[in-house]
Amino acid sequence: MGTWNYSVFWDEAMNQIREELGEHEFAMWFNIEYDSSIENAIVIRVPSNFYRDQLVRQYQKLIERKIFELTGKALGIDFVVVKPSVSSNPAKEKEEEQLAEMPNNKEEQPTLKSLAKKTISLDRGKHHQMRLDYTFENFIIGENNSFAANAALAIAKNPGTSYNPFLIYGGVGLGKTHLMQSIGNRVWTTNEKAKVICISAEEFMNEFIQSIHDKSTQAFKNRYRFVDVLLIDDIHFLQNKLGSQEELFHTFNALYDNNKQMVFTCDRPVSELKNLSDRLRSRFERGLNVDLQPPNFETRRAILRKKIEASRISVPDEVADIIAKNISTNVRDLEAALTKLIAYAQLVHKDITLEIAQNQLKDVFSQSKHGNVTIDNILRVVADSYKLSYSDLKGKKRTKLIAFPRQIAMYIAREITEYSTTELGFEFGGRDHTTVMHACQKIDERLKLDPNLESTIQSLIRAIKEYSSKT
Ligand code: ADP
Ligand code: MG
Repeated sequence: MGTWNYSVFWDEAMNQIREELGEHEFAMWFNIEYDSSIENAIVIRVPSNFYRDQLVRQYQKLIERKIFELTGKALGIDFVVVKPSVSSNPAKEKEEEQLAEMPNNKEEQPTLKSLAKKTISLDRGKHHQMRLDYTFENFIIGENNSFAANAALAIAKNPGTSYNPFLIYGGVGLGKTHLMQSIGNRVWTTNEKAKVICISAEEFMNEFIQSIHDKSTQAFKNRYRFVDVLLIDDIHFLQNKLGSQEELFHTFNALYDNNKQMVFTCDRPVSELKNLSDRLRSRFERGLNVDLQPPNFETRRAILRKKIEASRISVPDEVADIIAKNISTNVRDLEAALTKLIAYAQLVHKDITLEIAQNQLKDVFSQSKHGNVTIDNILRVVADSYKLSYSDLKGKKRTKLIAFPRQIAMYIAREITEYSTTELGFEFGGRDHTTVMHACQKIDERLKLDPNLESTIQSLIRAIKEYSSKT
C-alpha cells in the first residue's frame, strides 16, 4: 500500500492528449515514455535535453493538468534523459538491429518510444501482482474443475465478452487463486496492451481506506476504471465491510458498462455471503458462477506428478500414489506433503523411497484423515447455530427442537469424520449405533424434500472446519 504506480494514469493521460492535439503534433513532441513513479511525481524518459526543454515549455502544464484530473493529486513530472543510441546492452542492440530491418523503419532512426515499447513487450513476462507459475499450463484439469477451467480459458481468450463477471467459489486450497491468475497471466502475456489488476479483496479495502486518508479517492477510483481485466481474490472478506462494498459496486458498474472483464473468487456461493448489500450480490451473480470441488484420486495423482516433474527431483510413482491416496482434503495439503518429503530427502541426502515417505508422512496422513475435526467441535458449532446449549445437544432430551439439530450433527459427523456409527453413538452421549443410523436416514429423506437443507449443511460443515482449524 502507499506505493503508487502511476503508469495507468500516464497511459490514459497520453491517450487523452493525443486526441486533443491530433496524431501529427502528438507524434512530433510526445516522443517520451513513462519510466517510474515516485511519491509525488511521475518520472518520464525523454531522448534529449532539447526535447525536454521543448516539452517543459509547451506541454508541461497540459500534462500536469491531465494527471491532476485523473489522479486528483498535484503530481510533478520529472524528466530523465535517455539517449537511445548509447546502449551497452547487447539485447537492446539486437532490438535496434531488428527494428532497423523492419520495412517501415528504413530511414528513420528507431525512436525512444518504439524502443521502449519493444523492451516492454519483451519484459512483460511477469506481472508484479501475479505468480508466474499460476498458469493454465500448470493447472491440471479433472472432473472436479473442468467446467471452471474451460470457462476460464474461454474468458482469457475473449475477456469482457462472454462471461462477465466470472466468479469461482469453493473451499480452501482447491485452486481458486491459481485459476483466476491463470486468466490474468494469459491475457497479460498474449495482449501486450492489456492492463490487468490482480488484488485481494482485503488489499482493495485497504487501498480504499488509505485513499480516503490521503484525500486521493479520485485516483483510487480511476485506477480501477481504466483496467481491461480486474481480478479480485477472496471477496468473502467484504462481508460487513459496507463502505468497500459500495466502492466495489461503483467500480463494477463502470467496468461492466465498458465490457471490461472481472473475475472474483469466494470461499462459498454468493447466496451464502452474509451482510452483503443486495445490489452487489446481484452483480456478483450476474455473470457465471462456478464452483471447484475437491479433486478425485486420479486428478490428485496427476497434480502430484506435475509438481514432481517441475521439481526435477526423482520421486517414485508409488510414493506419489500413497500421497494422493491419503490426502484428499485439498491440493494445498497435497503439495505440502510432497514439499515436506522433498525437503527431508534433500537434507539427509537420501533418495525418496516408499518407506521413507510412509515414515515421514505418518502424522500428515493421520491428521488428514480426521482433520482437526472432533465431535466436540461439531456439537459446538451446530449447537451455536441453532441457539442451543452444547450439553442439551449432547444430552438425552428428546424434544423436537433438539432432536433435529442433533440429527444434523450426527449426519455431519458421519460425513466428515472417519468414525464408525458405533463410535459416533458413544461420542453422542452414549447412544446406540442404530440411533446414529436412524438420524442419518432421516436427514437423507429430508434432503430429498427440502431444497435448502443441503446448503445449510454445507455451510455448517464449512463453519465446523473453520472452527476446527483454529482450535
Ligand atoms: P485456493 O485459492 O482455492 O485456496 P490455490 O489456488 O491457492 O487455492 O491453490 C492451492 C495450491 O494448489 C496452489 O499451489 C495451486 O497451484 C495448487 N493447485 C490447485 N489446483 C490445482 C490444479 N488443478 N492443478 C495444479 N495445481 C493446483
Ligand atoms: Mg486463494
